[in-house]
Amino acid sequence: MNICLIIGYPVKGSCSPLIHNAGYKNLGIDDQFNYLATDVKPEHLKMAIAGIKALGIKGVSVTMPHKQKVMEYLDTIDKEAEKIKAVNTILNSNGKLIGYNTDYIGAITALEKKTTLKGKKTAVLGAGGAARAIIYGLKKKDAVVKIFNRTRESAKILAREFGCEYAGFESLEQVAEMDIIINATPIGMNEDKSPINKKFLNKKQIVFDIVYQPKETKLIKDAKSKGAKIIYGYEMLLYQGVVQFELYTGMKAPVNVMRRRLEQIL
Ligand code: NAP
Repeated sequence: MNICLIIGYPVKGSCSPLIHNAGYKNLGIDDQFNYLATDVKPEHLKMAIAGIKALGIKGVSVTMPHKQKVMEYLDTIDKEAEKIKAVNTILNSNGKLIGYNTDYIGAITALEKKTTLKGKKTAVLGAGGAARAIIYGLKKKDAVVKIFNRTRESAKILAREFGCEYAGFESLEQVAEMDIIINATPIGMNEDKSPINKKFLNKKQIVFDIVYQPKETKLIKDAKSKGAKIIYGYEMLLYQGVVQFELYTGMKAPVNVMRRRLEQIL
């Protein structure tokens, strides 16, 4: 049996086991693959990674707060994960642990289902781990990125690294001029709040809220009411999981089956 895991702290309530196991069942490989979730406290991370090798765990999805620290304990880091400075996926390739970042692929795949990115004026709200991965992907696709962050200094550091413009949250009215707006802060998660005043949204825009709980965040509802195209946060979650599925199994993921399972859960 190939065991796959998601590790984090806390990891309770993660959708990943249900999505991956639905995929295994659909492909008839649920007698060969099983995906589980387990809490790993920060002080146990090093031991947990050694355990992955010792136990021959096939693939490990990594969530908060381990995405940066885990890089110290792997044998190889993929070039893109190195640039993003975060790993959310570990593949055990014949005893060698390789770290990848599939978060950026998840976000970019979700965006490219709606639009091309080259030359698009794109506002990214937030300068944390998720924003980093998304900005890396946007720059790779030649989008024109401006970062807006509550703490202006963090936006400045990120903007310098990736060659973007930046501003503080006090300048958020500028999003009215943008083609694409991406919320990569937790604002709206299990609360009826939006980071952007509705009057700055319009029907020509694409609004992507990476917050996926609830599915219909206030930002998404406001964008819909203004006639903007919207992208739900769960799309990113789905597509980053699809890449993980394919790395772990070596098989093409049944995307629609995984999507339906995710929609059932949310
Ligand atoms: P993080 O590294 O902690 O970064 C959080 C960012 O949000 C920082 O830029 C922070 O600004 C800003 N922020 C936090 N609270 C704020 C508030 N009340 N007002 C204004 N700005 C605030 O977190 P992360 O890993 O990037 O995750 C961000 C969100 O994305 C989380 O809700 C997470 O669940 C979600 N996410 C979704 C997916 C998906 O697949 N859909 C994947 C990854 C993450 P400061 O610099 O000022 O602190």
